[in-house]
Amino acid sequence: MGDHDLAVYWHPRTFDHEPPDGAFKLPSTPLLAVDEPHPDQPARARNVKRILEETFGTDAAFETVEAAPRAAIERVHDPDYVSWLEGFAAAGGGYVDGTTTGGNEATFDAARYAAGTALAATDHALEGDRGVPYALARPSGHHAQSDRADGFCFLNSAAIAAAAALASGCDRVAIVDWDVHHGNGTQEIFYDREDVLLVSLHNDHGAWEPTYHPQTGGVEEVGVGDGEGYTVNVPVPPGTGDRGYERLFEALVEPVVEAYDPDLIVYSAGQDAGPSDPLGRNVVTRAGFRTLGERARGLAETTAGGRYVLLQEGGYQVSHLAFATLGVLEGATGRTFDLPEYGEDDPFAWLDEEVEPLERALETAREHHAAHWPTLTGGD
Ligand SMILES: [Zn+2]
Repeated sequence: MGDHDLAVYWHPRTFDHEPPDGAFKLPSTPLLAVDEPHPDQPARARNVKRILEETFGTDAAFETVEAAPRAAIERVHDPDYVSWLEGFAAAGGGYVDGTTTGGNEATFDAARYAAGTALAATDHALEGDRGVPYALARPSGHHAQSDRADGFCFLNSAAIAAAAALASGCDRVAIVDWDVHHGNGTQEIFYDREDVLLVSLHNDHGAWEPTYHPQTGGVEEVGVGDGEGYTVNVPVPPGTGDRGYERLFEALVEPVVEAYDPDLIVYSAGQDAGPSDPLGRNVVTRAGFRTLGERARGLAETTAGGRYVLLQEGGYQVSHLAFATLGVLEGATGRTFDLPEYGEDDPFAWLDEEVEPLERALETAREHHAAHWPTLTGGD
């Protein structure tokens, strides 16, 4: 990829995947008259690509990828499921079995190209190319299980990348998943294996559908057989923010991954822990994501010979996702772009409620309006 700070692996076909309109509401309730658009809009990826072009400019290389080969996909997915997915898209898509996960005629291609971005970024990392490898994947992958689509995910790009790394000679791969939802598909795929460690940080949303999504993400799900101990679930409370995620890295992610001593770290980087995400309840700002990017790079340098991949997962506020992802990549590349016209650092940054400024504003208003409303100052 030459002499760039950042290598962005992407493909335009991933923008063509669209879930059907109309059937998905937030929240799903007859109390509301109007359906919101499905959360997984192509704008998510378009905005990320644009903000990276506008900030990194020529310091980023944008490379279109090949679709993941079937053999690479079938290291982690049931061949019958892959054939089903191909047929699902060929027939025009729709919603999958009454779930909130759906697609169109482009979905099979988009998922294969998304996995292709993960494979290209993994090659970059293993070959020691200069610059941070970032896979701009869409649709996301971490909910996709070996034999089923789930949670807007069809092919598990992180798992496909990890399996490819093992096939090319790595002994151990760590997947660190900071998407605000549990990486249940990744967990299911590697649940009985010790050659892939999964550390998943997520809100405690549980199994949102017991049949197609039986995993809960609880601390008691630790793996089975040879895999016992190699699934590390860390449910975190709603409202966990910049300081909280840094603390999670310091107190849990870093010591566990360092002890595991992987040859590669794949970060399932879903930025839906942001303060305005419609599908998350955490409050991480661009600055907090910048810290995550710094620590992601630092951990890889400490324990994996500097080999790591940043792989896009969720993030559903279509504007904030771009600023949040920029933050991750700023941290990983050691840069900070000054964007004062968009707020101090993050136009969506969470503000803590403060009483004193309100009291001052209230006093000014009361004094001003007392001329007409003496009751405000206790007069008549
Ligand atoms: Zn998510």
